[in-house]
Amino acid sequence: MDTALWHPFSDMAVVREDEFVLERGEDVWVYDAAGNRYLDATASLWYANAGHGRAEIADAAAEQMRKLAGYSIFGDFTNEPARALAGRLAGLAPMPDAKVFLTAGGGEAIDSAVKIARRYHVVQGQPERVHVISRTNSYHGTNGIGTGVAGIEANRTGFGEILPSSSRVAYDSVDALRDEIRRVGPERVAAFLFEPVIGAGGVLAPPEGYVQGVVDVCREYGVLVIADAVICGFGRLGTWFGVERWGVEPDLITFAKGVTSGYLPLGGVVVHGRVAEPFWARSGTTLRHGATYSGHPACCAAALANIDILERDNLLQRGQLLEGELAAALQPLAAHPLVREVRAGVGLLAAVELQPDLFERLPSAVADLSLLIRQRGVLTRTLAKALAVSPPLTIQRPEINEIAQAFAAGLDELA
Ligand code: PLP
Repeated sequence: MDTALWHPFSDMAVVREDEFVLERGEDVWVYDAAGNRYLDATASLWYANAGHGRAEIADAAAEQMRKLAGYSIFGDFTNEPARALAGRLAGLAPMPDAKVFLTAGGGEAIDSAVKIARRYHVVQGQPERVHVISRTNSYHGTNGIGTGVAGIEANRTGFGEILPSSSRVAYDSVDALRDEIRRVGPERVAAFLFEPVIGAGGVLAPPEGYVQGVVDVCREYGVLVIADAVICGFGRLGTWFGVERWGVEPDLITFAKGVTSGYLPLGGVVVHGRVAEPFWARSGTTLRHGATYSGHPACCAAALANIDILERDNLLQRGQLLEGELAAALQPLAAHPLVREVRAGVGLLAAVELQPDLFERLPSAVADLSLLIRQRGVLTRTLAKALAVSPPLTIQRPEINEIAQAFAAGLDELA
């Protein structure tokens, strides 16, 4: 039946009469309307970190809704879940005296982080620092600024110019960042924005020394470092905000997705105490930025319940333990003639990239393979040239093997 629902990032001419309806979920499993069971190998859009069907999260949100469903936190208004969540995240963040700005998702967090960075430079007397440098292959959501800085070029084009003052550098080169800061003029650069491990752009882990290297370059030129941990946080890389793996201290960290394991929409920005300081210390520096659902109490209650589960069930440690197992299970696929590369081993996330010449004879190879794997009961995520795997942190070893087997069988059928 024709649908009225416009699906994001989807060819509606194809999807309009052929939607795939999911009805319920339990741990790593989701079920369609006909009752068929699928292994959720991508935790939906990289977010169901605690797994599906957690009654505790639903109960926490419902209890808060019965008490106070929603109320803004503009001005001096606040609510207990929002205060508690900010305090909890500030305590977990790898930076001293952190402050937390809450949003309704990751794209809004990106826009918030860049505006906070720019506003910081303005209040510090450097209003010309507006330029943002990001990386090729990066994805930072589809709000205004996130679209404008996107490193996946197809996501930035076709809308006219959105954020003129931005540029992109090779995702794996510290020197490229230094050169670009010098080219633009350090006095004009506000921030460098990077994903610790690039997600939607292909699951690309940073080369040895990269993360420390870019942080050092930014420090040298007074450029703020924004780590986009929307995918990498809440256990995906085995830590709370992903960057702890490299021992660096960013100025701002954006988060979303795993903070609620997707039970309700929530995101935000953790801000280093040094960056927040002028706003906290000087009246009149007001950040004229925010949205209706900043600090929404039911969403914050869901996040708190989710963080309780991640801690109680040691899911961050599980992620660390299983990343090698996921890599070991998927790596043999690299020998398949249709596979160019298997990228895995940093975090519980991976990508299986197809051979470039395959796309000449079969432009829809990624979508076709995803469907073949789905027919074997496993859900994956399509990227430009690869399929991504990022299961809930609760996944068991036999289920990891099931993912690898479904890939192998799907590849054989596609060949
Ligand atoms: N940043 C990264 C690294 C992401 O992967 C995403 C979404 O996938 C976003 C930002 C945007 O988040 P949202 O889709 O919640 O707006």
